[in-house]
Formats: sequence, C-alpha cells, structure tokens
Amino acid sequence: MNAGLARGAPEIAPHELVARLLQATDQDQPGAVDPSRLLSFMKLQFLPVDFAASLRDVLPVAAGAARALLSFPDRLVAVDAALEPERMRFSTLHEIAHYVLPDHRHALYLCDAEGLSSRARLDFEVQANRFAADLQFKGHHFTVESHALPVSAATVKALALKYHTSFESTARRLVEKHHAPVMFVVCERQADRSIIDASQTPVWRVKYCCASASFRARWSARLEGEVPAEIVAALTAGTRDVGESIVAEVPLGGAFGFEWFTNGYAIMALVRARG
Ligand SMILES: [Zn+2]
Repeated sequence: MNAGLARGAPEIAPHELVARLLQATDQDQPGAVDPSRLLSFMKLQFLPVDFAASLRDVLPVAAGAARALLSFPDRLVAVDAALEPERMRFSTLHEIAHYVLPDHRHALYLCDAEGLSSRARLDFEVQANRFAADLQFKGHHFTVESHALPVSAATVKALALKYHTSFESTARRLVEKHHAPVMFVVCERQADRSIIDASQTPVWRVKYCCASASFRARWSARLEGEVPAEIVAALTAGTRDVGESIVAEVPLGGAFGFEWFTNGYAIMALVRARG
C-alpha cells in the first residue's frame, strides 16, 4: 500500500481517496468495480457467512439484522451469504469504506440492513454508504457516461448492467448527480386488503424521492401520493422489464413528464420538468 492510501491519512478527502484506490487497483475507467481487487490491495480477507445461522448464538438479539462485518485485528470482511449479488458487492464496498475512511477507527464494525441502506441514520453508516457508492459508480465515470445518454429507464437499465448495480441504486445515482432538473420516485405497495382480496385495487404510495440539485432549487424535493391506478394495472400485469416503461404527462403546478417502470418489487418513476 502506498503512503497516500495508508489507513487514517487525515488530509485526503473521501472523493480523492476513491480516485486513488481506483487508480492503484487499475480500475480508473467506466464499468463495474471489482471489489476483490480492492480487498487484495488492502490485504483484507473476504468471507461469505450465513449470518443467521453462524452468529445467532454469539450476538445479542439486536444484532440479528447484521449483514456485514469488518474486523480490523483479523483483517477480515465478512458478508451475509444470503444477500443478492448486488447487495453483497455493495456491502463489501461499505466495509472497505470503514477500513479506509480516516475517522472510522473502531476495531469491529457490525453493519445491519438499515445501516447498509439509503435509510441509514448514523453518520458513519451514511459516510460508508456514500464512499461505497462512489467506488461502485467509479467516481466521476458513471456521471460522465450518464450525461451522454437520455434520462430514461432504458439508460438506467443499460448502466445498471454495465456497473453491476441494482436498478434502484443506479437511478438514484443518475438523478443525484445530474445537471438537468430530474427526480426519481420509488413507490411501495401498501399493506391493505388488496393483498388478500383480488377484487380490490392495490394501492402503491410514494416511499421516497431524490432529486438533482437543479430540481431541488426550483421545486420541492418531496412528492406525496399514490401511483395512478391505470399505471399500477399496466405495470403489474405480467412480468415487465425495467426497459418496458410507460411515459405519462402529469400536471403538478407545472408540466412534468413521468416515466414509470418496475423492477418487480417497486414501482419507480423518473420525473422530468418540461420546458
Ligand atoms: Zn457500516
């Protein structure tokens, strides 16, 4: 490891640290990051573990949602083997973040599902997630690529496949870093009677939103409400690919174009201001 990447070097800003790690592991170009090259560069071991079975008896009940851990003395990153591949990759990058971020000096990190998600509240989890996302999207490379393409579900799909990232995290990154006024909305199905009664129309409500800086400067960064019933009906009839989106105009105090799509779990929309 070269001096600039020595753990705890306090003068390096996180984005600079990301750039140096990518350069040092010959990954400073567009495309999916290889976490194993980062692990070997830092001489960290990697172990997929069945957390539910292995840690049940040694951890307190509160740690039951543990998904990944980093042990400094053992130079070990362990990740829940039950996670989907994209989550496993992200969790590994999150633990690498704890290892290299100067202020993260605990001997052991045990990170749970919430800490590893966009709902994370604790500062060090938010910082590790941001750093992991920067590694996952290769610093500025993803942003440069996404600006050369239209803001669309097809672009989200193409970039998610290229960067080996989830559709949701890809759309979030695209919007957060975009110069244009764009918003990303994620909706979840409500636990209502429709789950047991097929004659009832299911209700999908906004779970969270994120928006580009230029969108936030002009409009609210938060959108409330339900997905229009006809959009729910169209998106949930059969299996639909992320690229098979539905474009609709929705008047919201100005003209906004909504492009609705689904990954099979959530209904999502890219929102663009017209004119
Ligand atoms: Zn963590």
